[in-house]
Amino acid sequence: MTLVEAPHTPIHCMNLVRAGWHSPPGARHLTIHSPHTGDIIGDVPMSGPDEVNDAIVQASGAFGKWRDTPIKERAQVAFRFRQNVLTNIDKIANTAALESGKTFAEAHAEVLKGLEVVEFALSLQNMSQGSLLEVSRGVWCRSTREPLGVVVGIAPFNFPAMVPMWMHPIAIMLGNCFVLKPSEKVPLTSQLIGDCWLDAGLPPGVFSIVNGDRTTVEALITHPFVQAVGFVGSTDAARTVYAMATSLGKRALCLGGAKNCMILAPDADERVAVSGIVASFSGCAGQRCMAGSLLLAVGDVDHIVQRIVARASEVCPGEALGAIIDTSSLNRISSKIAEAQTQGAALKLDGRTPQAPRGYEGGNWMGPTILDHVTMDMSCARSEIFGPVLSIVRVGSISEALQIEAQLEYGNATSVFTTSGAVADLVAQRSSSGMIGVNVGVPVPREPFSFGGTKQSKFGAGDITGMSSLELWSSLKKITSRFESHPNGKNRHTAESDSQGSDAHRKAADWMS
Ligand code: NAD
Repeated sequence: MTLVEAPHTPIHCMNLVRAGWHSPPGARHLTIHSPHTGDIIGDVPMSGPDEVNDAIVQASGAFGKWRDTPIKERAQVAFRFRQNVLTNIDKIANTAALESGKTFAEAHAEVLKGLEVVEFALSLQNMSQGSLLEVSRGVWCRSTREPLGVVVGIAPFNFPAMVPMWMHPIAIMLGNCFVLKPSEKVPLTSQLIGDCWLDAGLPPGVFSIVNGDRTTVEALITHPFVQAVGFVGSTDAARTVYAMATSLGKRALCLGGAKNCMILAPDADERVAVSGIVASFSGCAGQRCMAGSLLLAVGDVDHIVQRIVARASEVCPGEALGAIIDTSSLNRISSKIAEAQTQGAALKLDGRTPQAPRGYEGGNWMGPTILDHVTMDMSCARSEIFGPVLSIVRVGSISEALQIEAQLEYGNATSVFTTSGAVADLVAQRSSSGMIGVNVGVPVPREPFSFGGTKQSKFGAGDITGMSSLELWSSLKKITSRFESHPNGKNRHTAESDSQGSDAHRKAADWMS
């Protein structure tokens, strides 16, 4: 059985600065291990302030020309980028699976989801034309979207292709120069994405990659040329990055961790609920910010819970279930399960000693695990475990479920499984989360509906994709114009009349250039 193709020799990651790939001299390198096998698959440099400065200065130098490139021309480059990703999708998906531990099918789906954002970004050429209105006679107000300059994006390990693609296509299409800091755990996929931009003909400096860890992040955020920061990762880091960036007067949108609940109503369609709940908590081995890891089981739903346990016990590592990112995460998840048991949770399914796929015995495998009769004072009910673990809390009513949901620290997603429109509407209206699913266990909105949570799952206004992301990556400039002696002599100001020559106009052209 081959889960993914491994490289013949480890891949040596480099930074993308100016027009090419560079290895920062003297940098410390981290070794990258395959979560599937434990084998070494590459190494990644930890860039210091000099490399960060180099990338940002180059990006800053590229900004003026890219900003002045009409959006229709920028779109041509982004079209070619999209095509390059599609042409190489198997290789990109294989690499994303190889380094993150997910299955090839999951990695393939994440690349397609990332491309959806590229397609949204491409649509900006038709949507971000600004507006123009004659607000009183001869006085015109016009608004245009202006790029900010050099902006940065910092990404987590769990979606090596998709999460960076939430950010760079939109920022670049809007005319910014974007510097990506991939997760040091999964730097390989970004090397391929960088090549897709280079091969698309993106001018040097418009998209850069600086590899590194939190020290690199701090150097990026605090660099005086950096105007805006997009961050996706754990809540503690998101809070820190948000505070640091905004204290320096920069824009920031920082997405953090999650503890998403799923409400199971007694009238739920059993088939839909069982498959939706199992896929939600075990998909991507539970390592996604949209995983439903807390099941609020309302009333007498024992028969559905039994089917959830039976279905989850059929999910085999290596087939529909990927590996955990590293051994320390595997140990952390195991200890959370043991702690819940000690606190009185009933272990209905124990995935801690799964059968590893043949030939992959050295990997970080964990089977689906289900804890029942969990209470809200247990850590497994409230904290993000980030593994294929479902905690079931028994509740008496939908209202009780909603009260629990409202008190959760995080607010990415809430799902409800029901056949009642009234119950679905109640949950959708009362939920405190940013993304709601009705009979959908992973309610990631499709573009152009935007992605973003609430509470401790997001610091900053707006969402990371969709129209509200434009507020992160651009400014709205408002221009009010009035010409007393307009060439048409009627105080009317139109683009056409402006561009046609009057003597005054021609003279102006002389001294403007
Ligand atoms: P992480 O916070 O450890 O790392 C994310 C990025 O931040 C990495 O690039 C890392 O180098 C950097 N970083 C880490 N600590 C930092 C610090 N103190 N200061 C500055 N930078 C720092 O997260 P991870 O383990 O890679 O990813 C998993 C987490 O990301 C989970 O909590 C998951 O829920 C969250 N996540 C959230 C979303 C979302 O949309 N809300 C999406 C994906 C992942």
